[in-house]
Amino acid sequence: MAKKQFKAESKRLLDLMINSIYTHKEIFLREIISNASDAIDKLCYIALTDEKVGKSRDDFRIRVTLDKEARTITVSDNGVGMTRADMEENLGVIAHSGSLKFKSEMEKDEEGVDIIGQFGVGFYSAFMVSDNVKVVSRAYGEETASQWESSGADGYTITDAQRPEPGTDVIMHVKPDTEDENYSEFLESWKIRELIKRYSDYVRFPIRMDVEHTEYKETGEKDEHGHPKTEPVTHVEEETINSMVPIWQRMKSQVSDAECIQFYKDRFHDYEDPVAVIRVNAEGLTSYKAMLFIPSKAPYDFYSRDFKPGLALYSSGVLIMENCADLLPECFRFVRGVVDSPDLSLNISREILQHDRQLKTIAGNLENKIKSELLSLQTSDPEKYDKFWESFGRQIKYGVVGDYGMKAEMLRDLLKFHSSADEKLTTLKDYAARMPESQKYIYYAAAESLRTAAGLPQNEQVRSKGYEILYFVEDVDEFVAQILREYEGKELRSVTGGDLGLDSDEERQEQKETLEQKKPLLDFLKDTLSGDVVDVKLSAALVSSAVCMSYEGDITLEMERYFRSIPGEAGDKIKARHVLELNPNHPVFAALERAYDEDRERCVKIARVLCTQAKLLAGIPVEDLAAYTEDVCGLI
Ligand code: ADP
Repeated sequence: MAKKQFKAESKRLLDLMINSIYTHKEIFLREIISNASDAIDKLCYIALTDEKVGKSRDDFRIRVTLDKEARTITVSDNGVGMTRADMEENLGVIAHSGSLKFKSEMEKDEEGVDIIGQFGVGFYSAFMVSDNVKVVSRAYGEETASQWESSGADGYTITDAQRPEPGTDVIMHVKPDTEDENYSEFLESWKIRELIKRYSDYVRFPIRMDVEHTEYKETGEKDEHGHPKTEPVTHVEEETINSMVPIWQRMKSQVSDAECIQFYKDRFHDYEDPVAVIRVNAEGLTSYKAMLFIPSKAPYDFYSRDFKPGLALYSSGVLIMENCADLLPECFRFVRGVVDSPDLSLNISREILQHDRQLKTIAGNLENKIKSELLSLQTSDPEKYDKFWESFGRQIKYGVVGDYGMKAEMLRDLLKFHSSADEKLTTLKDYAARMPESQKYIYYAAAESLRTAAGLPQNEQVRSKGYEILYFVEDVDEFVAQILREYEGKELRSVTGGDLGLDSDEERQEQKETLEQKKPLLDFLKDTLSGDVVDVKLSAALVSSAVCMSYEGDITLEMERYFRSIPGEAGDKIKARHVLELNPNHPVFAALERAYDEDRERCVKIARVLCTQAKLLAGIPVEDLAAYTEDVCGLI
């Protein structure tokens, strides 16, 4: 009988499947089973109004049979089936739904490898593991069946066939093994069961298979020790392999917390309980169900490139994608879970998916849910929240800073910092609530450790007014401050950043007068230290310390430190403009003034020593330590 030719684009796809080097060939089974499930869905629907179908929902099933000798895998369903014309139409061309899109993707991605993995390509994926495929099908309402057969890209035949009832058998003849591929594995019952569990566990109809069981029966005789002898007896039983109703499809009231947590641990390979479980059941324009988990610990590779963020995406229980990153904003990339929407097509391409309006709506909703869940955890169980914060706080901060601060507003109430108030972390909200009315700014001290931050000389004056200081000890913290700028109308100010808004008008006037008086000395010092600092000032912030280092302009001392810590040239180029601040009320300042009047050389030495001390306190590296010791010795 004459072979019919595939349409051109189908032929290309088929070639791709046959010669596929794709390593997850196993997804063919998911595709064939999902077609079977769709076909059953259709007949099931007809049965609602047409009693001639003679079946109720419980009568539908998919059967998978393996024949090692014949090297075949058969997937049978008692669904709606296909007429000869249907076969011609459906199996002679590639899936209508994805076809056009698929073509344009292919042009970009020569191997097509990714497309197969992410979306599957329907029926033709059978050719990744088979060298011959037969489809025997009888459409509901017809008396006869037809058989479609193809051994690959050279075409297919359609002949008459027999089938006792409506439905379809897809008979795949498994390819011989090659050096690289062990196709025979697909003829092993354990392997196929594993694949069904992995990819099709939540298909709504039972997937049945013969499973061998071995029992040890007593023979009635005794062995040399007098124990009863046993012998293995094998029997075969048909079993349902899939669990059919996914946990996220079940009603909230019917699933215990413990079950959710167990599911999380099994599915996402974590041995610790999550800090929160979020369940969503959305109905309306976009309907979907979601079950999300906020882990308590970051996986070891979380902050590396190897970590794959995203939620598992299902369409009515069939897995479309294991890690759909588009469902989560970057700041919440630690969230794990599943989303199931019957409105999404299995064969949807990645490009469509990315621009999919429904998917965007879902992602937007989930973002809100995650945020409010975290906010409520903050108050309901602060200890748990802090545990979460320890693992993922940095990610939230990156979220504030990233995307030009687009998410800053959404995320700011999730932030927590150490502060001078007590040992515990505080939110900006709680800090603001504790602010006395006189306090103008939100103060922070940035340094590489909690100890240094708490010990900055500039803190003294702020604290003496009874104001609280936040301690910023992570690289990203100062960038967070720059993006936020303010909270509830109160500006964030670094204690090392100059004007702290602490002085009364009287104090200001007094300072102005002192400044005028000391101007010649300050100008002299500025000149003397011009290689190290851009300015020398009298400090309003110092109480008991003699000196401190502050900065001018946008680059803070902490940023300078950060850029110094990363390899490359940035560290040399990006430097803060250092300003030396002197405490006019300190005895050292008096000594400096005296030397200025009496012994200029001595004055220069004192100035250089003070400048170095200020650097050391601020954690700025000192280049010429020899000169420093020489100055100190000279003075002694
Ligand atoms: P898709 O499922 O995305 O439409 P496929 O290439 O997997 O693409 O299948 C093409 C078409 O073949 C299906 O849409 C369906 O009409 C038909 N088909 C495939 N398998 C079956 C089956 N087991 N029973 C009935 N029809 C089937």
